[in-house]
Amino acid sequence: MAAPTTTAPPTAGEVFEQLRRHQSPKLALTGKFAGRGAVEAGALGSRVTLSDGRTALDFGSYAVALLGHRHPGVVAAVARQLDVMPTSTRSLANPVAARAAARLSEYLGGRLPKVYFGLNGADAVEVSVKLARLATGRDRVLAVTGGYHGKTLGALSLTHSPLFRSGLRGAVVDVVHIDPEDPYAVRTQLKSAPVAAVIFEPVQGENGAVPLRTEVLHQWCEDAHSHGAFAIADEIQCGLRRCGEPSVALADGLPVDAVLVGKPLGGGVVPLSAAVCSTELYAPLAQDPFLHSATFGGHPLSCAALPAALEAIEELAEHGRMVSARLAQGLRALAERHPRVMGAHHGRGLLWGIEFTTPGAAGEAVVSLAANGLLVSPCLGRPTTVRLLPPLVTTEAELDEALDILDTALAAAAAPAGLPE
Ligand code: PLP
Repeated sequence: MAAPTTTAPPTAGEVFEQLRRHQSPKLALTGKFAGRGAVEAGALGSRVTLSDGRTALDFGSYAVALLGHRHPGVVAAVARQLDVMPTSTRSLANPVAARAAARLSEYLGGRLPKVYFGLNGADAVEVSVKLARLATGRDRVLAVTGGYHGKTLGALSLTHSPLFRSGLRGAVVDVVHIDPEDPYAVRTQLKSAPVAAVIFEPVQGENGAVPLRTEVLHQWCEDAHSHGAFAIADEIQCGLRRCGEPSVALADGLPVDAVLVGKPLGGGVVPLSAAVCSTELYAPLAQDPFLHSATFGGHPLSCAALPAALEAIEELAEHGRMVSARLAQGLRALAERHPRVMGAHHGRGLLWGIEFTTPGAAGEAVVSLAANGLLVSPCLGRPTTVRLLPPLVTTEAELDEALDILDTALAAAAAPAGLPE
């Protein structure tokens, strides 16, 4: 006889046990610490509700919740599509994906007319580099020291930190990592071997919210172009107004051949990423669209979210500038109050990194902030840094609440070592 089905949600204990048995004991343990024994149960706007009834502000979610959780415009658009046709035949043309591609290209100013849709950021990275190699007939790609581009094998080759490559020998892509401070790094590399593309994050997210210098990026683009190589801006974390503008690279006047976006592109409701490309870079795929495709690429549910997400992002852009200015001011004040624990802090818009003296102190801060009602993201590639990623919908009161929680955590971090503040 079939086992009876139950609709009761599992207890927090059952969740941890399932994670431990079927995924990873470490995943179960870190979740248990972060939630102090509770699991996530629901979310709305900037706030997440835990299974024990507590709530926490969500300044983490790996940069996905730019619109907060369950933005009503995005939820309604996805629900409508769910009622009509959630999945595509892939043999008939799909109007939702076509409209989303046109909307995204237009949103980024129209200079990059071609769009490939994936689900995760790494999908957009993979296709952009594959296209650069196909279009140039060259293999070598330049990426940047400190850069993060994902963990699938191709994207992982571009990601700098060896922490993510432990146990793996060799790179799938022929990559050289260049110094982000050296304006002539691309030129130097071009002298030794032909290059297909240079890929960079205008603001390095995983590396602790570090903006790269615009003059350096301009020089890299110029040198790449003068040798027939492409320039790709990975804005999966910093784009879509996370750092103020729809695209940091395009706003800074960089003549890039592709802008990669992801994370909040599906409005924080569904997974969606995109490589938005020039005609030249995209040429191999325009000629043969099956050179690169995936079962769920351009999925109607995800694509239905895109126009609603971009509309909401634009409606909230002005408010976001206020949140960003207040946050920058608040972080300056905290740095003055806690000079011994809080090292440098850097970032742009709604993407900030706070440096701690040791990885242990940063790890403890993540856990203690969560326990006190503020969820933040660690930086996996730079473990001394904690990332703050507030949503555009954050209210002034929520921002003050977050800064208060940070203040308490920084004071506590100084206390055990008896550090004078
Ligand atoms: N590129 C950047 C700049 C990212 O920050 C990330 C993820 O954090 C990725 C690529 C990979 O995205 P995903 O984890 O969705 O594959």
